[in-house]
Amino acid sequence: MSLDGVFRRAFGDDEPTHAGSGWTTGVLAVALGVFAAGGVLCLHMPDLLTTPDLRGRYPLPLVRGLIQALIGLAFLCGLLSALSRRRKVLGVTGMGLALAASLAGGASVEIAGPVSSRLALGLDWFLLNLLLLAVIFVPLERWRPLREEQLVFRPLWTTDSVHFFVSHLLVQVTTWLSLAPATILFAWAARPEIQGAVKGQPLVLQVLEIVLVADLTQYAVHRAFHVVPALWRFHSVHHSSTTMDWLAGSRLHLVDTIATRGLTFLPLFLLGFDERALGAYLVFVSFHAVFIHANVRFRLGALEPFLVTPRYHHWHHASAPEARDRNFAVHLPVLDRVFGTRHLPPGAWPAEYGLGDGRSFPESWLGQTVAPFRRRI
Ligand SMILES: [Zn+2]
Ligand SMILES: [Zn+2]
Repeated sequence: MSLDGVFRRAFGDDEPTHAGSGWTTGVLAVALGVFAAGGVLCLHMPDLLTTPDLRGRYPLPLVRGLIQALIGLAFLCGLLSALSRRRKVLGVTGMGLALAASLAGGASVEIAGPVSSRLALGLDWFLLNLLLLAVIFVPLERWRPLREEQLVFRPLWTTDSVHFFVSHLLVQVTTWLSLAPATILFAWAARPEIQGAVKGQPLVLQVLEIVLVADLTQYAVHRAFHVVPALWRFHSVHHSSTTMDWLAGSRLHLVDTIATRGLTFLPLFLLGFDERALGAYLVFVSFHAVFIHANVRFRLGALEPFLVTPRYHHWHHASAPEARDRNFAVHLPVLDRVFGTRHLPPGAWPAEYGLGDGRSFPESWLGQTVAPFRRRI
C-alpha cells in the first residue's frame, strides 16, 4: 500500500471537508502539533537535530515564543475540530501532540551545556522551511488556484513530503557533497585577479550575473539529465509527479540534487562572487523553485518573458509528446529560445503531467530512491 493509503487509513477520516466541518482546523491542529513537537525535540537534542551553520544564528527568545504559540494554536485548533466534527481523530491527534510537547518541557526546555557537534541532522531547517513555505504557498494556491478541485492533500503528497523531509534532514551532507568537489578539486583553477574584479561589482549586478551563470549551467545539466539515459533514470523521479503543486518540486532524487547543485556551484565558486550575493540568490532560488511547481494560475505581467513562470515550468512536466524535453531553463526562458527548446502554447496549460509512457513508477520514497540503481524501472 502507498504511504497515502497508510495515512488515510491511519486517520480513517472520510467525512465531508467543507467549511465548518472541522476538517481544516483538524488538519491544522495536526500540522501545528507536529511543528510544536519537532521544535521541542530540537531544544532537547540540539547537538543531534539542529544544523550547525544555523543554530548559532537563532534569536532564542523568539524561537521559544514561536514554539509556545504553536503549542497553543495546535491545542485550540484540535479543540475546535473535535467540537465540530463527528470523527475526533484529527482534533485529538493535534491536542495530543500539543500536550506531549508541553509535557516534554514545552518552549522552556533548557539547553544543557555548549552545543558543539559539527555533524547533525537538519530537523530545525526542515521545520522552519516547511512552516514558511506552507504559510506562503497554501493560501496562494487557494487564492489563485490553477486546478480548483485539487486538494492540499492530493495523491502521493506523502511521498513528496518524505522527499522534502529527507532532503532537509540531510542538508549538511548534501550541501557538503555539492560544495566539496568545487572547493577541493578545483581550487587550483581560481584566479584571484578575476575573483577580485567580480567581487568588486555592485551586489545587485552580481546577483543578476549569478542568475545568468547558474541558469546556463543548470540548463546544460538539466538537458543532460534528460538525454543521457543513465542520468534520466535519476531525473525521471522528478518527472513522475502527475500533480503539480508547491510540494511536487521536492520530488528529486538525491543524486540529481547533488549533481545539479555541485555543477551549478562550480563556475560561481571560480568566479568568486560575494557571499552576500550568493546568499541572496539562494533565497531567490529556494522560493522560485517552489513557485514554478505550484498549483497557481499566476501571471507575472511584464516579467513573463524574462522569468520562468508556473505555466512555463508546468509545460516542462507535461506528459504530451510535443512537450517532451522542452523548457529546460529554471529561471530564464530566453535560454530555451536561444537553444531551440521552448514550448509554450499561448495561454494554455498542460492537460496532464507525468512520464506519459504508460508504465507504472514506484510510488514510495524508498522505491523511487532505489529505482535508478535497478536494472529496470
Ligand atoms: Zn526535467
Ligand atoms: Zn520541476
